[in-house]
Amino acid sequence: MRDIPTTYDQSKESKIYKLWEESGFFNPDNLSGKPYTIIMPPSNANGQVHVGHALGFTLQDIMIRFERMRGRKTLWLPGTDHAGFETQVVFEKKLEKEGRSRFQMTREEFYKEVWDFVQDYKQQTEDGIRRLGASTDWSRNMFTLDPRIIQIVYETFEQMYRDGLIYRGNRICNWCVKHQTGLADLETEHEERTDPLYYIKYGPLTLATVRPETKFGDTALAVNPKDTRYKKYIGQELEAEGLLGKFKIKVIADELVDKDFGTGVVKVTPAHDAADFEIWQKHSAKGGSVPGGKDEIPGPKQVIDKRGKMDLPNTKYHGLKVAEARKVVVEDLQKLGLLEKIDETYKHNVSLCYKCKNVLEPLIIPQWYVAMTKKFKIRNSKFEISLRDLVVNAVKNKKVKINPIKFEKVLMHWMKNIRDWPISRQIWWGIPIPVWYKDNELKISEASPGEGWVQDPDTFDTWFSSGQWPYATLMALDNTPSNSPLKGGEQRDSPPNIGGARGGINFQTFYPTQMMETGWDILFFWVARMIMFGLYKTGQVPFENVYLHGLVRDKDRQKMSKSKGNVIDPLGVIDIYGNDALRMALVVGNLPGNDLPLSEDKVRGYRNFANKIWNAARFVMQNTEGMDATAQLAPAHKVILKNLDKVTNGTTKLLDKQDLAHAAENLYHYFWHTFADKIIEESKAQLANPKTKASTQLMLKTVLETCLKLLHPFVPFVTEAAWQINHKNLLLVEKWPIKLN
Ligand SMILES: [Zn+2]
Repeated sequence: MRDIPTTYDQSKESKIYKLWEESGFFNPDNLSGKPYTIIMPPSNANGQVHVGHALGFTLQDIMIRFERMRGRKTLWLPGTDHAGFETQVVFEKKLEKEGRSRFQMTREEFYKEVWDFVQDYKQQTEDGIRRLGASTDWSRNMFTLDPRIIQIVYETFEQMYRDGLIYRGNRICNWCVKHQTGLADLETEHEERTDPLYYIKYGPLTLATVRPETKFGDTALAVNPKDTRYKKYIGQELEAEGLLGKFKIKVIADELVDKDFGTGVVKVTPAHDAADFEIWQKHSAKGGSVPGGKDEIPGPKQVIDKRGKMDLPNTKYHGLKVAEARKVVVEDLQKLGLLEKIDETYKHNVSLCYKCKNVLEPLIIPQWYVAMTKKFKIRNSKFEISLRDLVVNAVKNKKVKINPIKFEKVLMHWMKNIRDWPISRQIWWGIPIPVWYKDNELKISEASPGEGWVQDPDTFDTWFSSGQWPYATLMALDNTPSNSPLKGGEQRDSPPNIGGARGGINFQTFYPTQMMETGWDILFFWVARMIMFGLYKTGQVPFENVYLHGLVRDKDRQKMSKSKGNVIDPLGVIDIYGNDALRMALVVGNLPGNDLPLSEDKVRGYRNFANKIWNAARFVMQNTEGMDATAQLAPAHKVILKNLDKVTNGTTKLLDKQDLAHAAENLYHYFWHTFADKIIEESKAQLANPKTKASTQLMLKTVLETCLKLLHPFVPFVTEAAWQINHKNLLLVEKWPIKLN
């Protein structure tokens, strides 16, 4: 009998991975068949590989391995992300610990340090992806700051600008005083708080506000037009006593004012409140674009600066932080008898920066925006549509299918209420905005158009570039010359529109892709925007299917966090229990869109499964040496193989439905409880009987080899190791057992 070790040696995993990688079969150029492509969500190159990565890689690897064995030309394109704001936040924390700050550095120094920091983590992340067993094509590895990617991002920007879909807007944005950048609505968090509500006298009227310190920026008072209490004041200019002396202020009527809030009178402070900004826009000529003149009320008056300090030169309030100013203002109002009362129980929602949790300061800062609901003309067609509706139609018409389906509704709801997307950030780590200014001129150009031109200091929201990832990676690989002479800022003869795709071999072969597997938490941030960009730029959806996974939680369903000490390190777990054990623990019981509780016990349990596979394989191989492959199957063995066909069919069907969890679970039970516990046990007597031996050997070998193939996408290492005992070829590219009829 052959000498095969009695336990599976998981330390050989890296050798097996090398074997696969060197075989060239991770690269679709060495495969034939219909293409099947997954573009890997690029991992943020700013931290360790975590269990969330392990989950995503495992699910994608199962899909890729299954399709590769089914004879598809599979491409799984790996990548890493510079992750703009996210990385800058991580790096600034590091600086803070070292007693440094980016505001003491030049932009170039800062950029260089972050670049090196990211290169380190980029390498670590790629090593992590390898160790997790991802059968991804390293020859097509991509980084979001690859110059070829940046070029495509710039072209899209220019194209959208020429189509009137990108504009510079001077309006209220969510400003983080700590991080010194504007943020999109998606990057804000909301929290209910109880704050004092101050009732302040404005001449004959009294109004309620939580922000008395912004009163210096008031440009009007407003009431609801249906509020009979204040009808006689509408349109009048009142004279009132203030902290800086007497002032005049007009009363206007607007439906946005809630009669039941406070006294029914509100102050309008357009420079420091988003709703007030909207009111001002409605009550000024041309939506606020021309302040003064025919305007019903004056334009915004800024009294707080970007640092969150009062900007009121020559007053005692100048330079005070907002919170201090509020205290002083309230005291002074009290002294002057202008404070009627304070309601200490007022509950309201505040917007916080999703990173530092500081209350955001609404400020008017010019930003670049993508117009989401504005219609534009599709090239070579009279058809007009908005970016928003491109996405809505694609999902409605099932051009993109989302699993689980409930997220289609969630996405539609979000799209319905979508506002224009601010894509500029006042941060340094990211892709610079390719816009140059000189006097009142503006040019879009990668490099300086000449002397005297100054570049826009902002960088892109990282989702503006990663939203283009599916086509940008494939086009970058083709690296075909651009039809957009961005360099030097010349203008194109005719603006290309939808369908302006370029025809390199990678793009032609692998686009649109078949699957986007990612976390549901970035459905809006990323998935929706990829659909939007893909349709805009190429006229095709970027992917046909979306599979959304949930969060990995601890065994008590608590969120994993360093402070709770309940974090499971996937690479550490692999060292102890092996890769296959972690993969099974991540996939069994994991339904799309749902969170998954994970414990070390669960992983340990599946290490036993890996050993079970190894031992069954060992038994079969030792007992089928020199077997007669032409043996006739006994009727009882035929029944076993018929049942095996059902398992094969069931697995294929479940994988086709993207039901990976049940496919894995069913195989686990069949292998352990039917094959190992029953079939192998019962075979022992039959093997000892010369009359039944040959049929038994054939049956055992068939069941084992079929099971190894079916199990391979889920537990690739142990199945490959077992397969290698008896085969020269790789299980990685064995033909998937097809029994469907
Ligand atoms: Zn912040």
